[in-house]
Amino acid sequence: MDGLRALPGVDRLLSAAAGRALAERHGRQAATGALRAALDDARDAVRGGAAAPDADAICALAAARLDADRLPAQRPVLNLTGTVLHTNLGRALLADAAIAAAAEAMRAPVALEYDLSSGRRGERDASVARLICELTGAEAATIVNNNAAAVLLALNTVADGGEGIVSRGELVEIGGAFRIPDIMARAGVRLVEVGTTNRTHLRDYRDAIRPETALVMKVHPSNYRIDGFTAAVPGDELAALAHGAGVPMLHDLGSGTLVDMTRWGLPAEPTVAQAVAEGADLVTFSGDKLLGGPQAGFIVGRAELIERIDRNPLKRALRLDKIRLAALDATLRLYRDPDRLADRLPTLRLLTRTRDDIAAQAARLVAPVAAMLPDYRVAVIDCASQIGSGALPVETLPSAALALTGAGGDAPDRLAARLRALPLPVIGRIRDGALVLDLRCLADDGDLLGALTRL
Ligand SMILES: *Cc1c(COP(=O)(O)O)cnc(C)c1O
Repeated sequence: MDGLRALPGVDRLLSAAAGRALAERHGRQAATGALRAALDDARDAVRGGAAAPDADAICALAAARLDADRLPAQRPVLNLTGTVLHTNLGRALLADAAIAAAAEAMRAPVALEYDLSSGRRGERDASVARLICELTGAEAATIVNNNAAAVLLALNTVADGGEGIVSRGELVEIGGAFRIPDIMARAGVRLVEVGTTNRTHLRDYRDAIRPETALVMKVHPSNYRIDGFTAAVPGDELAALAHGAGVPMLHDLGSGTLVDMTRWGLPAEPTVAQAVAEGADLVTFSGDKLLGGPQAGFIVGRAELIERIDRNPLKRALRLDKIRLAALDATLRLYRDPDRLADRLPTLRLLTRTRDDIAAQAARLVAPVAAMLPDYRVAVIDCASQIGSGALPVETLPSAALALTGAGGDAPDRLAARLRALPLPVIGRIRDGALVLDLRCLADDGDLLGALTRL
């Protein structure tokens, strides 16, 4: 095997110009590892009958390995799926003020659990809790890792060992692992289902109440809608029934919003303030859905219950870090000025973009994009964006897109794969034999054109 002997050793590769460049760029340890791996591959190839590659070729193989590994798996993409709050793409984009606050919290010590007026230990959630109470009219609040955690913690605190009554029309599953029956079981609450899939009445709840009842729960059907012959019990009637029976009412809003979305011409989504005003003792909702902040879960409601929740040892396991608390604080402050919210909060800015604005962008982009994709036909089409993340599942927002079609049935799939492989991956969706790029979430024409120049 002369070929094997012809291969250089790692030390020689590291002292060659190309090897030194690798060590300079990636560090000596990583360069050595990649050169060893490239040499292993070369040995296999020689044993298979190939000619021995020279030092430069082996260094080039090692460089390709290192470059491929340099980009983090979680990296920026262009979300042209048409879903604004895309759970798989990280949901809400944060406002500039929230990003700045988070960066500051990462860089410097902060008064996280420190009361600056007394110099004593303070409450971690206090500032965010005060803000959310101001914005929702709730008595008290606590903040945890996400809304799934909020529901788990609320259920476990008020109903562990008891029974929780839920309508059969509200046994929601959110994205795989979060299912109301399962989360109830984990919280130590026995689920008592009442009513039917399409119709549940107040008497159904009333008939189910007995001494073991610890809670009545209402769940917002975030990601589906039951249409036709339907009936559900309004929150205020359910709260009154629960209070008559001496048990708390928990309302899981899922997304919820802090402001009436119809003021921007958007479909109505229940507000947290409404749920509180209806008499729910506890209301749970997400930080990174319509609220437009970082991943977080809120529990707002009666002070006595919130105090018990804060004393539950699970709270410590589910609490938020300083970075997200800083971002949440800054996000909530934007809500104090609703008139400027649509400019400052990216989620709302994207949701309120008009079809005309997006169509004008599509008209600007169609020719330059077509020039970069000579094998494809590029057309401007009308489309419908979705809000996403289980908010307003049925309503869509009129939008405009570039539809890319090519020869062969697999043309859209092949193009989608090429766009995903770009340094700034472009994510669209395939519809009716075309790759559709909904431009609602494209902030800047240059972002798409810049990404496509790397094709
Ligand atoms: C989204 C949602 C949840 C889970 O919230 P996360 O913040 O994703 O943990 C729970 N309940 C409802 C009704 C939801 O819509």
